[in-house]
Amino acid sequence: MSLHGQLTLNNLPAAFVNRMRKQLSDVSDFLEALQSVSPVSVRLNPAKLPFPETPFFSGRPMSEVDWCRHAYYLEQRPVFTLDPCLHAGGYYVQEASSMFLDVILQQVLPQHPVRVLDLCAAPGGKSTLLSSALPAGSLLVANEVIRTRASVLKENLIKWGADNVVVTQNDPAHFSCLRNCFDLVLVDAPCSGEGMFRKDEKSVSEWSERNLQLCSERQQRILKDVWHTLKPGGYLIYSTCTYNPGENEEILQWLLERYEARSVDVSHFLGDSLFHTPHGYQFYPHKIKGEGFFIGVVQKLEEEEDAPRAKKEKKVSVRLPEELRNLLPHEKEFSVYNAENVLGVIPAPHAEFISLLDKHLNVLYKGCELAEINGRKFKMQPALALYRYLDKTQVVCKDCDTESALRYLKKEDISTEAPAGSWVLITHNSIGLGWGKSLGSRLNNYYPKEWRIRMSTE
Ligand code: SAM
Repeated sequence: MSLHGQLTLNNLPAAFVNRMRKQLSDVSDFLEALQSVSPVSVRLNPAKLPFPETPFFSGRPMSEVDWCRHAYYLEQRPVFTLDPCLHAGGYYVQEASSMFLDVILQQVLPQHPVRVLDLCAAPGGKSTLLSSALPAGSLLVANEVIRTRASVLKENLIKWGADNVVVTQNDPAHFSCLRNCFDLVLVDAPCSGEGMFRKDEKSVSEWSERNLQLCSERQQRILKDVWHTLKPGGYLIYSTCTYNPGENEEILQWLLERYEARSVDVSHFLGDSLFHTPHGYQFYPHKIKGEGFFIGVVQKLEEEEDAPRAKKEKKVSVRLPEELRNLLPHEKEFSVYNAENVLGVIPAPHAEFISLLDKHLNVLYKGCELAEINGRKFKMQPALALYRYLDKTQVVCKDCDTESALRYLKKEDISTEAPAGSWVLITHNSIGLGWGKSLGSRLNNYYPKEWRIRMSTE
């Protein structure tokens, strides 16, 4: 890296540069782009922040990312941690090339509800995109094998505020019991990370030809483990952030030779900016304003088999106390669960399938957790404050400016005029952040300590 943290040619592995010289006719443009600064992009949460009107963004020049709805480039990288709106799930900071998933979803998704598996989902860029893009009534299972990364995924999805999501922490092999369950499976595979070279020093230092081979073997293993979870006619979207053909089109070629499937051509308007490989699209940083990325789609053509059904179990019906029921939209159909005294809701049409997941997988989170009950008392859960469907007219709200919102997010004291004992929803620009409980003149801060901002705001 240069003194300014930018990549220089001398830092790049020689074997990588040699391969790229063979792979690209305009390699000098590519190498020059690798030495420039990465673009910064965000994708807004249409349920919370349909337009970039947050004061945090105002005055900052923004231009749209052409291939994704609600997505913008920023001219400079702000200190995102100091924007309460980020913590409220108002937007997600996401690399622009990977947002091309939105173009694909618009072409392969039907209008009716679907079930989707995002197998390698942490930290949640594509899961949050999926959760917003899926047809109403759909369910997303977002999985991550590494425990610490799975909790970040859970946090990001809770902040996104949807209830159409289940978060699991499992190895791909654990999905063996779910045959023909998903209409769409996204495998955003762990890879050699060549496309992240200018953003992430570690991906440069860890690069080796041996590692390319290991990555490709692991990608095949992952695909073998989950192929059968896809319904016949369903789509598998495969993506990586590398330029290595051995992890991209060769993996899809291997898949097409092994299983009954066809490669799906996705139409787009990007012309020569996108490199069309036999089975997918390769993004290069000298062609497009984004990082290196590969994405391809295949459709499963195999015969229909019976999908597993959750054994009909005697339903223990849990009723929501009136006080909680009043906070939710009445037209939505929920199933209520009680997990160790925490009451939560899941979308009723998926209740049976979610019980199958509960049985076979390590489910970390589902639907939306509302409140912990202790006798007749409630302890409001952080997810309810961030839930897009919370009826804010039914709770006491305190809207905070940036300074006091940041104090709240650091778990410091903030003042209140609410009557002692009442739960107060802390909002910023009217978007929920979390709960406090009034002690008369100040609030007991219920923001989760593992989410708190540790950065100095001075
Ligand atoms: N989809 C994510 C997003 O958009 O934010 C990024 C996923 S990242 C490219 C790949 C993920 O695969 C990582 O979170 C990594 O922990 C996970 N992973 C690593 N080894 C794995 C394995 N053997 N099987 C499944 N996932 C694995």
